[in-house]
Amino acid sequence: MRIERGRDPGPFCKAAQYKPHLRPLFRRRCAYCLMPDDRLGGEDGMTVDHFRPESRYHDLRLAWANLYYACSVCNSQYKRDYPTLEEERAGKRFVDPCEEDYDDHFRLVPDPVTGALCRVRSLSEAAEYSALAFR
Ligand SMILES: [Zn+2]
Repeated sequence: MRIERGRDPGPFCKAAQYKPHLRPLFRRRCAYCLMPDDRLGGEDGMTVDHFRPESRYHDLRLAWANLYYACSVCNSQYKRDYPTLEEERAGKRFVDPCEEDYDDHFRLVPDPVTGALCRVRSLSEAAEYSALAFR
């Protein structure tokens, strides 16, 4: 899922004001786990995530390109496990669903017991880091 953002609908003074604009852009799904929002309470059950955390990238707190439509679980998980500055310098990072295609980083593989395509194989370091963080 690559996201073509288009024009910034703002400016707004709160990130939450971008949520109705982010919803159709992210096809009513969480940017990270891809869960449809209708299973999570619709737009009210979703959050506006700062891909680059506002605690470190304060200037990006209202930057349209840094705001992602995310479920609360992924949003809180993501914030907790975002790479430290040292890890970032070493190349640790999350796969960016707006800039990269998940198919280049993850592949569904069959479960060895059931044969169902339900296991995820990481194809890159960023995918491994993301998979560990989001479990
Ligand atoms: Zn999610």
